[in-house]
Amino acid sequence: FFREDFTARSAAVRVRFGAGIRSAVAEEMEALGVSRALILTTPQQADMADEFAGYCGSRAVGRFTGATMHTPVDVSEQATELARKLGADVVISVGGGSTTGLGKAIALRTDLPQIVVPTTYAGSEATGILGQTENGVKTTLTSAKVQPEVILYDAELVTSLPVAMTVASALNAMAHAAEGLYARDRSPISSLMAVEGLRAFRDALPKVIAAPGNVGARGETLYGAWLCGTVLGQVGMALHHKLCHTLGGSFDLPHAETHAIILPHAIAFNDHAVPDLLAPLGELFGMAPGPGLWHFAKAAGAPMALRDLGLAEADLDRAADLATANPYWNPRPVTRDGVRQLLQAAWAGDCPD
Ligand code: NAD
Repeated sequence: FFREDFTARSAAVRVRFGAGIRSAVAEEMEALGVSRALILTTPQQADMADEFAGYCGSRAVGRFTGATMHTPVDVSEQATELARKLGADVVISVGGGSTTGLGKAIALRTDLPQIVVPTTYAGSEATGILGQTENGVKTTLTSAKVQPEVILYDAELVTSLPVAMTVASALNAMAHAAEGLYARDRSPISSLMAVEGLRAFRDALPKVIAAPGNVGARGETLYGAWLCGTVLGQVGMALHHKLCHTLGGSFDLPHAETHAIILPHAIAFNDHAVPDLLAPLGELFGMAPGPGLWHFAKAAGAPMALRDLGLAEADLDRAADLATANPYWNPRPVTRDGVRQLLQAAWAGDCPD
């Protein structure tokens, strides 16, 4: 992974792993020098807010259980107003990328520190990236202000993630690492993390599928999520993330599932240009990177076809237009025809070559 010229960036983040580590949240507040926590969850995970209020005791000043997909600006403003009204000096985000996104949106507006307790593998907790939506338009920004200060990875919390979501979320995480391997601004460290993150999922995901309550294997998948998320936070992404962004934003396809389907196709597309950089993926999966990821996803029971997510074949032309409307860097030149062909295979669920 050595390169002659590189710049390596890493954020100052405190990360703790362990089954049951979530109960250390009050200790972490003390270490940060804060004492008034606003706890964030989605409505579906509102009981987690109660559990965390218990860990924080009198240090919990409020809860906001309205986190939702795509971080809509109006929800963020509501939650920020609550944080201000309560005099909160820290946000504790318990959940997946949507809840973490809300915590980041509050941090952007208030500069409050964040403690994140992830319950999916999306990896947002390890980045200084925030995606927000307003009037149906999703924009992304990167700022040190939104990078969470503390992450508590507790394997017990992901045991409740249903198997289908587990698989899609794992592939979502693996996509950060796979694209990280050919990122223009990759460093030896980001590449090492990418390969180790992919390896962790390759080894642990089948064990988790066989026994979703296997805390040891869940811990290994969270380790993979941390590594893959850290790669996402350190280097730029390319075609795969652009396609998923387009499909999610313009056709309202679900985030993790879209990643799961597109990944083998985007990687196969780029493998034609940078086979040397993607060779570690081939080694991990024992065949060419695109087909290797496709077979891994299929064996895990992942969704394999965009048509199964409800995308109409008639939408593929518009999707290809949108995904190629603005130029962006990719290791292989992105043409409208190339993307249209890729989308056709992903729509049908064919194995890429
Ligand atoms: P999510 O946070 O939207 O969660 C989906 C649903 O699953 C929610 O209802 C949630 O409450 C529930 N859930 C979460 N964990 C659970 C568990 N352990 N058990 C049972 N239910 C659980 O999904 P996600 O895929 O984690 O996040 C997707 C969002 O994160 C997208 O908006 C994406 O753009 C964003 N994201 C951002 C970054 C970044 O760096 N900014 C990185 C990755 C993802």
